Amino acid sequence: MTVDTPLTIRSMIEPVIKRNGGWVNTHAHADRSFTLSPDVLHMRKTCTLQEKWDALDRLKAESTEEDFYRRFSQLFELMISQGVTALGTFVDIDPQSKDRAIKAGIRAREHYKDQITVKFANQTLKGVIDPQAREWFDIGSEMVDIIGALPKRDEKDFGKGSEAFDIILGTAKKLGKMVHVHVDQFNESFEYETEELCNKTIEHGMQGKVVAIHGISIAAHSRKYRQRLYGLMKEANVMMIACPTAWIDTPRSEMIGPMHNSMTPVDELVPAGITVALGTDNVCDAMVPWNNGDMWHELTLLATGCRFDEMEELAKIASVNGRKVLGLEPIENQDFSIKI
Ligand SMILES: [Zn+2]
Repeated sequence: MTVDTPLTIRSMIEPVIKRNGGWVNTHAHADRSFTLSPDVLHMRKTCTLQEKWDALDRLKAESTEEDFYRRFSQLFELMISQGVTALGTFVDIDPQSKDRAIKAGIRAREHYKDQITVKFANQTLKGVIDPQAREWFDIGSEMVDIIGALPKRDEKDFGKGSEAFDIILGTAKKLGKMVHVHVDQFNESFEYETEELCNKTIEHGMQGKVVAIHGISIAAHSRKYRQRLYGLMKEANVMMIACPTAWIDTPRSEMIGPMHNSMTPVDELVPAGITVALGTDNVCDAMVPWNNGDMWHELTLLATGCRFDEMEELAKIASVNGRKVLGLEPIENQDFSIKI
């Protein structure tokens, strides 16, 4: 007696993803992946996000180029084992890591180039306003494929988030590179970073070259604000990367607002015509210890958390949209029909 293979969502979607160029992980921090330890887990309980950024300094300063090379290689192999064909990863290039991590990353990319395409972006954990941090931002910008950013850092340290946007976008324009920016991470209705990113994108004439990462706080705003923001995103041609596991653990809050899960509102962004792609973000590190870098888990969490059952769109989010946000050539002969 034969038993039919049961139909699952995965058996419906994954073949479509593979047929259209394979999985694309558009956002990670490979230089810090697999750095979990009991100390790190303890720090997670006692520190705020901002304190964690600083606590990472010691780990980074003590990491050798070989430590970084091993972490890149482990993450690349984990991605390859799942059928990921392209990866975008941030790399710390700052006063702590200096250029050791990016040098290791470039070597590891060369080693795995037949199996996975890798694009690097510079992480600016120390911002771009502090003179020493700025020096490393300028060095890093020349070495990476995509200009990376974390404007919240400059807002926190100097109240100069707006100036940070100008430095980041101006540098990207000068170098002819795309921009990936961490924005609206805290699920709070007083964050307006995606909106500011769109306005700055238009101001600098960078339409179609800018990608927002996370956009969690969008869902904390009113429907009217959200609809207006989606129109602005369209006008600025700003794309969005969703990394569901990374922010689903946002702490409980007594703030009042529209009911929603703590994640990128893909159920509204896609119908609004915004290109959405998928990323794992941090894997097995102090920031996101629970994330083991499983692409199928990320897609499942995104679909269920937003109650978004559009199968063809989900397959695009996991594949061709990822290539678009990484600035890669599109796949020819795309076919997203679900064949059962
Ligand atoms: Zn990130």
